[in-house]
Amino acid sequence: MGKEEYLLCIDRVLAGNLQSLSFVNIWFGILVFVSGVMAPSFWYATFPIAGVSAFSAIWMDRWHNQNQKGRHFSKKVIYRLVVSFYSFIMLSSLYLFVWLVPGTSVSIMFYIILICAIFTIVAPPSLGLGFTLISSVLFASTSFYLKELEIFIGDITMLTAVVPAAITFNWFSNMYKFRAMLNEIRLEGERDKFRQASTVDELTGLRNRRDFNTTFHRFLNNRRGTDAGRFVCLALLDIDHFKEYNDHYGHLVGDECLQNMGKALKDLRDSADVYVARVGGEEFAILWFEQDTAGIQKIVQEVHLRIKELAIPHKKSSTASYVTVSMGVYAVNSDTQEDTDAIYSLADKALYEAKEKGRNCAVVYANIAKQHLT
Ligand code: GH3
Ligand code: MG
Ligand code: MG
Repeated sequence: MGKEEYLLCIDRVLAGNLQSLSFVNIWFGILVFVSGVMAPSFWYATFPIAGVSAFSAIWMDRWHNQNQKGRHFSKKVIYRLVVSFYSFIMLSSLYLFVWLVPGTSVSIMFYIILICAIFTIVAPPSLGLGFTLISSVLFASTSFYLKELEIFIGDITMLTAVVPAAITFNWFSNMYKFRAMLNEIRLEGERDKFRQASTVDELTGLRNRRDFNTTFHRFLNNRRGTDAGRFVCLALLDIDHFKEYNDHYGHLVGDECLQNMGKALKDLRDSADVYVARVGGEEFAILWFEQDTAGIQKIVQEVHLRIKELAIPHKKSSTASYVTVSMGVYAVNSDTQEDTDAIYSLADKALYEAKEKGRNCAVVYANIAKQHLT
């Protein structure tokens, strides 16, 4: 088991413990409340305990749900404090209850067995066992100090029957739960790896064509009709004279060039908050939302600047002494009725026009009127 897997497993155990504690709090609250009703003279002690239990159960459950998605849950100090605090409250309430109602050792034992049984069934590894042991020790010591010898001996006899059975049962159930949890974590890891492999381009580390297609659809569906950005912008980039580059420098150097392009575009993605993918051999796509046409020009200029800064020598290019790209951009109102294919083919048309214009430049079509801007 790798360290990461182990940490995830512990996380899940702890997160599950919080949920189970919440569940047990409800049971505990109900039991204490019923005891208060049955022994009305102790209502002043039992009702507040039941109230605290019910409140903490609800609170812990909500808190658990809020935090469920966070990984490395166990590292949160507040989580540990909360669990320790509520375990303490629950156990001391139990202790108080035994102390206040000295004649009810059989019913207390019944509660303990019931709570331990619930724990054993619903709790993740560790908590059921821990709770069984702690409550048994508390029960035995309370019985020793507060009860007559005869009752104490009866209590201990009950405990010696209950505790080994609980430990054995817990042990097997823990092993089973821990194994199931570990399997689940491993499967999730495999699934993540597979998802990663199917959406990422191996050579550049950028998103691949398949991911671009799904992202583009999602992009359009999510933002259509909202005011997240006035324009949906798609830029298609194509390296100029890349065939000559490959022919002159060799395919491996060509691959290196693509990797460097990928790095430059990743930097752009991180700094300008745009989506970038490699959609073909030496073609890339940039997808983003923009408020105005000046913003579009800014991204276009930034792409050209970053490629220029890469300064990859290209002796065989008739355009420049370094590797350049041509860009076709199509910017359309975000409430457009055009589908992804229509938008893509217009960006492609703009790219073709940029090539025609002499390469190392961008052609931008904007809005539904397809106004020619550059
Ligand atoms: P233009 O300026 O008109 O875009 O010309 P071009 O030579 O770039 O265009 P063309 O489509 O004729 O050639 C693209 C070349 O890109 C051909 C192919 O060898 C190369 N290529 C495509 N994928 C890869 C790749 O993964 N690695 C390498 N090294 N080269 C690739
Ligand atoms: Mg091409
Ligand atoms: Mg090309």
